[in-house]
Amino acid sequence: MSGNEFKYINQAFDTNWVAPLGPNVDAFEAEIAQYVGASEAVAVNSGTAAIHLALSLLGVKTGDKVFCSSLTFIASANPIIYQGAEPIFIDSEPETWNMSPQALEKAFNDSIKEGILPKAVIVVNLYGQSAKMDEIIAICNQYDVPIIEDAAESLGSKYKGIASGTFGKFGTYSFNGNKIITTSGGGVLISDDRDALQQARFLATQARDTAIHYQHSQIGYNYRLSNILAGIGRAQLEVLDQRIDARRAVFKRYYNELSQLPGFTFMPELDATFSNRWLTALTINEKEAGVSVKDIISGLIEENIEARPVWKPLHLQPVFNGSRYYPHDDQESVSDTLFTSGVCLPSGSNLKEEELESVIHHIKQIVNNRKVSFRA
Ligand SMILES: *Cc1c(COP(=O)(O)O)cnc(C)c1O
Repeated sequence: MSGNEFKYINQAFDTNWVAPLGPNVDAFEAEIAQYVGASEAVAVNSGTAAIHLALSLLGVKTGDKVFCSSLTFIASANPIIYQGAEPIFIDSEPETWNMSPQALEKAFNDSIKEGILPKAVIVVNLYGQSAKMDEIIAICNQYDVPIIEDAAESLGSKYKGIASGTFGKFGTYSFNGNKIITTSGGGVLISDDRDALQQARFLATQARDTAIHYQHSQIGYNYRLSNILAGIGRAQLEVLDQRIDARRAVFKRYYNELSQLPGFTFMPELDATFSNRWLTALTINEKEAGVSVKDIISGLIEENIEARPVWKPLHLQPVFNGSRYYPHDDQESVSDTLFTSGVCLPSGSNLKEEELESVIHHIKQIVNNRKVSFRA
């Protein structure tokens, strides 16, 4: 928390607006929309809900297909299943770790042959890094298929000077506890299509018809954000830029200290993109480094430092067993390689200098110890 949260929470208590919706929600929506430069925003109770609403608004239903990045958190794809549709997973490419335009093109070619285009394409911006949006948009426009940009991890990032999350028909952000700013739980759906967002508000409040009695002609959801949590979000948004500076400084520190180690390659930042560096991620080439990702993670755990592998690709998840997948190249699945060789280091905006120092020290020590034991 940043310190200002109580101001907004108290406003909610003082005015007795302790409910879903209220002045903080309205203000939070306006502030987020302004920050990213979208026409309008709808605050909801999770990023997952925002993705679900986007699919629902695009009319995704049983029997439809939806293309989705494979290297991501499962919440990117779960709403496809909620709608009864079929996810088709698309690999990453090495320069952004995000959706491979080449693999996307292949998936479209096949769907043309099969005579059924996907209803939507969900593009994820991993760990703050924007996908190759120009290429992806060009392909999707060619087939007239809308994009949902899952920017849960990239709030405040930019692609060619424009806010990450604003490139698709719909964009979604998350304010879950682990994200760069949080409402403890929450999300936002953005779009330049105000009518669609009006419909999103309707669906997110149980699809209540305009009548004084409770009347419903459609099935909706209970997805709106509470006025208390939106108050937290308003204060958090005020410090977003500071958080980004802090996260980028953490990345830079790790980079300066560790990128010289043989086999250590940090997640790139594509030209003309600006990543919020939500998490510092890198790959370790075991042969060159003399250590594996497992060695690093288990070595750090012994020091009570938590590091994690990168997301397990969705096409490898047991729950999506048998689903279709398009690799970057016939010879190479980039997301598989990133999964086996990638690691995310502690990256919190509030990491203290001595904590960073300690993580760096222990990583160097794990590498050195391993090399010594190899020689012995
Ligand atoms: C966190 C996250 C989500 C889901 O957000 P919730 O608010 O936790 O529902 C979706 N996609 C990605 C890539 C995420 O990291």
